[in-house]
Amino acid sequence: MGIIQELPEQLANRIAAGEVVERPASVVKELVENAIDAGATKIEVELVEAGIRLIKVRDNGHGFYEDDAPRAFLRHATSKIRDEHDLFRIRTLGFRGEALASIASVSHVTLKSRRAEEVGFEMTLEGGVLTETKPAAMNVGTEITVSQLFYNTPARLKYLKTSATELASITDTLNRIALSHPEVRLAAYHEDKELLRTNGNGDLKQVMLAIYGRQVASQIVTASSKTNDYSLSAYLVRPEVTRSNKQYVTLILNGRSIKNFALTQSILEGYHTLLPIGRYPIAVLEVNMDPMLIDVNVHPTKREVRLSKEKELCQLIQDTVQLTLREQRLIPTVQPKP
Ligand code: ADP
Ligand code: MG
Repeated sequence: MGIIQELPEQLANRIAAGEVVERPASVVKELVENAIDAGATKIEVELVEAGIRLIKVRDNGHGFYEDDAPRAFLRHATSKIRDEHDLFRIRTLGFRGEALASIASVSHVTLKSRRAEEVGFEMTLEGGVLTETKPAAMNVGTEITVSQLFYNTPARLKYLKTSATELASITDTLNRIALSHPEVRLAAYHEDKELLRTNGNGDLKQVMLAIYGRQVASQIVTASSKTNDYSLSAYLVRPEVTRSNKQYVTLILNGRSIKNFALTQSILEGYHTLLPIGRYPIAVLEVNMDPMLIDVNVHPTKREVRLSKEKELCQLIQDTVQLTLREQRLIPTVQPKP
C-alpha cells in the first residue's frame, strides 16, 4: 500500500508555471526569446490590456514541423539540447524546455506556424490541452497568441499589479532583449500605441537611440577590451546624463540580458566620482565568453548566472570603464568658442 502518486501532467505543469510565468512580461520574454532562437530577423509583439487579455508574437524564424508542435508543449521538451554535455555549451536563450508547457497550462494558446517547403497549420490549446489543429495559410515563421493569461490560477491573477506596472515591466523586458539583439528588427505595440521599434541593422547605439531618445544617444562613448577569456564592448553614456536607479545599467552576456550585482557594481565603480551621489549611469555592457565559463542553469527565468572567473571580469570592466571615461574628460564635448 502506498499513498504517494505522480501528479497528472497538466497539474504538474501548472505548478511549474509558477516559476517561469510570474507575470505577462515573463510570457513576452519567453516567446520573443524563442523567436530569436528560431533564427528570426523580424519579430512583432502585440498586446492588449498589458498582456493579460492578449499577447501575440509573430516571427519570421524557421517555424515548427506540424508533428513536433504538440511535443513543444510538453514539459522538458526541447530541440535545443540533447545530452548533458550540451548543458555546458549553451548558445541559445532557451534550453529548459518548459516555457511553452508552463505558459499553455495557465492560458489559451493558438500556435500558427509554417516551415519552408511545408504547409502551414494552426493549433489551439486550452489550459495546455490540445483542442484543435487545422491547416493555415501563412508565410514561413510562427505566430503564437496567448490569451486569458492566468484564467485558471485566480490567486496569480489577483497578485498582478496595475496595468501600468505590468506594461512597464513588459517594456523593460522588450528593451533588454532589443539591446541584446540589435540584429533583430523588433516592433511592439500595446493597443495601437507603439512601445518600441528597432531597425535590426545590428548597431547597438541605434537601439539605445530608439529606447532612450536622441539626447541620451548623443552622449554615448564606446569602449572595448579583450582578454583570453572575455571580449567586452561597453556603451557608456557620459556622466552628464544620469538616472535615479540602477535599472539603466544593462548587462548582456553571450546575447542574454542578465542580472548580476558584482558586474553592475564594477560599472558603477568605473564611473565612480563622476556620478553625483544617489545618481546612476545609463550604460550597456556586452560580454562575450566561452559558454563553459557561465552556468545559466541557476534559475528558471535564466536571468541569474554563475561565472567561473567573476573577479577577473569585474576588474576588466572597472578598468575599461574608468579608462574610457577618463580619456573622454580630456576631450571637451563642445569646442569652446575662440
Ligand atoms: P526551450 O526554448 O527551452 O527549448 P520552450 O518551451 O520555450 O523550450 O520551447 C519548446 C520548443 O518549441 C523549442 O525547443 C523549439 O524547438 C520550439 N519553438 C518554440 N518557439 C518557437 C518558435 N517561435 N519558432 C520555432 N520553434 C519554436
Ligand atoms: Mg524557450
